[in-house]
Formats: sequence, C-alpha cells, structure tokens
Amino acid sequence: MIDVARIRNDFPILSRRVNGKPLVYLDNAATTQKPNAVIDALTHYYRNTNANIHRGVHTLAAEAERDYDAARAKVARFINAPQESSVIFTRNTTEAVNLAAYGWAREFLKPGDEIIVTVMEHHSNYVPWQLVMQDTGATLKIVDIADDGTLRLDEYAKLITPRTRLVCVTHASNVLGTVNPVRQMADLAHKVDAKILVDGAQAAPHMPVDVQGLDCDFYAFSAHKMLGPTGIGVLYGKDEVLRTMRPFLAGGDMIREVKRDTSSWNVLPYKYEAGTPNIADTIAFGTAIDYLNGVGMPEVRAHEIEITRYVLDTLSHFRGLTIYGPRDAAARGGTVSFNLDGIHPHDLGTVLDHAGIAIRAGHHCAQPLMRRLGCVATARASFYLYNTREEVDALAEALREAQALFKRTGTPQKTGIS
Ligand code: PLP
Repeated sequence: MIDVARIRNDFPILSRRVNGKPLVYLDNAATTQKPNAVIDALTHYYRNTNANIHRGVHTLAAEAERDYDAARAKVARFINAPQESSVIFTRNTTEAVNLAAYGWAREFLKPGDEIIVTVMEHHSNYVPWQLVMQDTGATLKIVDIADDGTLRLDEYAKLITPRTRLVCVTHASNVLGTVNPVRQMADLAHKVDAKILVDGAQAAPHMPVDVQGLDCDFYAFSAHKMLGPTGIGVLYGKDEVLRTMRPFLAGGDMIREVKRDTSSWNVLPYKYEAGTPNIADTIAFGTAIDYLNGVGMPEVRAHEIEITRYVLDTLSHFRGLTIYGPRDAAARGGTVSFNLDGIHPHDLGTVLDHAGIAIRAGHHCAQPLMRRLGCVATARASFYLYNTREEVDALAEALREAQALFKRTGTPQKTGIS
C-alpha cells in the first residue's frame, strides 16, 4: 500500500484552505495537482538551462536538448513503446487525437469507409471524427453501453465490418469510470484490417499501460492529468503507421529539405513536431513520470481501487443518489459520477465548494453519453493517489448537509435529470 500521508506532503496545494476549510480536491479527472518535484523542474529549467533545442551549438542548448530527449525516453518506457520515435509530443490529448485525424484519417479514408466510436467518448475523441466524416465521406457508427455502464462488446462485434477502417475508444471513461477491454477490441479491429485509436487521458495516469500489450495503433494522453504541467501531451503511434501519415503542422524542424515547390520530411518523431516545442513542460512531464514510477503504477492503481470501493460503498447508502457506471471498483477507474434527487449538480458543486470540496458538475464534454444516461449533467468526484478515506467521509458529510439544506429551502432542480 502507498504512504498517502507522505505523498500528500509533496503537494503544496493540498495544505491550503478553501472557504475556511481544508481543501478536498476531487477534480482529478479534469486536472491533477503537481508535486514539488514537478514545480521545481519548471523553475530549474528556466533558471538554469533555458535555450531552444535542435539547432543550438552552445552548452545551454545541449543541456535543454538532453533533458527534452530524456523526457521522451521516460514516456516511451512508461507506456512500453517499442521505440522512442513512436512518442510524438503534442499539446494535450485533444491535439493528439486531431493529429491522427488529420495525418492518418484524412489521408486514407474515403466514402463508404466506417469509423466506430463509443457513446462514452469525450468530445475530444468524438468531434474530430465527425469532421473527418464530413471531409472524407466516411460514416460513423456508435457502440452503446449496457445499463451498468460497461461497453456493449456484443454490439461492437456486430458493428465491425470489412468497411471498418478505424475504431476510436476511450481506455477509461471520464464519466462512468468504465475501463474498456481495449485489447479485445484491438484484436477484432485488426481482423478486418482496421486501426484502433485509444484515448488514454483517464487511464495512463491511473494504471500501468503497455501499448504493445494493448496492440493499439494510436494511444493519446495528457501530462496535466498525471501530475505534469498543462500544455504537453502525447500521441503514441505504431512505427509503420506514423511513417505513412501526412504531417499535421508544417514549419521548422519537421522538414528534411525545402525546395522551391516541395519539401521532404524529417525522421520520426520530428516529422510531427513542427516549430519550437514546449521544452520546459516536457522536461517537467518527465519529472512527473519519475514521481509516478517512484510510487509505482501498480500501487497507484491498487490505491485507487481501494478508495473507489470505499466511495461506492459510502454513496450507496444515500437515499435518492444515483451512481452512474460499474459498481465493481476493480473494473473501473476512480471517477465517480452521480446525481442527488432534486439538486442540480451545479448547485451541488457550489455547496460542496463552500465546504472546501472541489468536484466537477456538468456534461463533462460527453454530451452523447449524457443523452444516453437520460440526464443533462452529473456531479463528478474523481480520485487520485493523494486522496484519502477521510476525504471521502468529508464528501459524504457535505452531501448529507446539501440534502438537508435543499430539503429545507426546497430549491427546485433547474434542469431535467432522470
Ligand atoms: N479524453 C478524455 C477521456 C478526457 O477525460 C479528457 C479531458 O478531460 C480529454 C480526452 C481531453 O484532454 P485534454 O483537455 O487534456 O486534451
């Protein structure tokens, strides 16, 4: 088991107070807090080694480049990529998915081709495919969920046809917490020669990820959801796939030679990293990975299963509380969405904030899923390696108080939530 008290000491923000109460930070699916090591890596870079990379002949440039390249190597090892050149740095998951949509899908899809997505996708892994559909004439098929919030694998198997060219699926849902059977889905996709893109935004931070074991063609994730800075993300791609794609952004660094009317491209990964990269945040991302490795990803996962089990158990005793997503903590991530009868999630979020508790309320960039669940919004508490059982108790206590408050004031719900 991990030493949560010791871990909490590494996160300065966790000792602050909000509205006079100790901060209880349960908005980790949106973004995570940063340990001192990551904050220090950023300031160390700007104080000591700040320089542009790739063309520099001076010491600072060499040091910055060394640290930047080291971060790529750390990411590659973290996800068990077969080579570092399969790790493309982007701004975030959203840009990573768009890179695949522009570089691969727009290049290779044609009218009649089919893309399969799931109804639980974040808009980042949904809207790019709508645009691909409009631009290429490909069509979109959507896999439904069962009522327990798990993916309908039986339906997925039926939707796959020889026309399927691409499957896009989230590894872990940012609303339901559901962890999807990506390897099984990849095997079915590859049987018909389709590619599979996995949105790992809610999985890479929380569990060991092995892109070779998953056999995915693309895997996308964001540093800021795994203790790293904002502004840096990753698209992993299989070497043979990345080689065939068209560049997404054009400019400096991504070229080998520029002639009057045409250019040739740099080797991987630089072909897809045009312009000056986000050097400082990438290096600090490497430090975040060091931190997670220091704790151990199997241990991070075990802690989350344990705390999620406690959350689900605690919330299941509430009257009028609907939990969305699987009830088996071992089959899901630590993101728990719920609604309390008669209280709009935004109102609930505001009341909890007065108690120092940060949760998220809204559609969570998953409107197709909200419609499937029959609601317009949910409250969402999401947990990470520094969260404690005491914080779950604080959440439960604040929910009880909110229920009592709304019962007294009789404030009506603003929107129709089932
Ligand atoms: N995919 C999932 C499942 C997410 O939860 C998120 C963010 O919440 C994203 C994609 C988008 O991540 P980013 O905003 O870092 O691009």
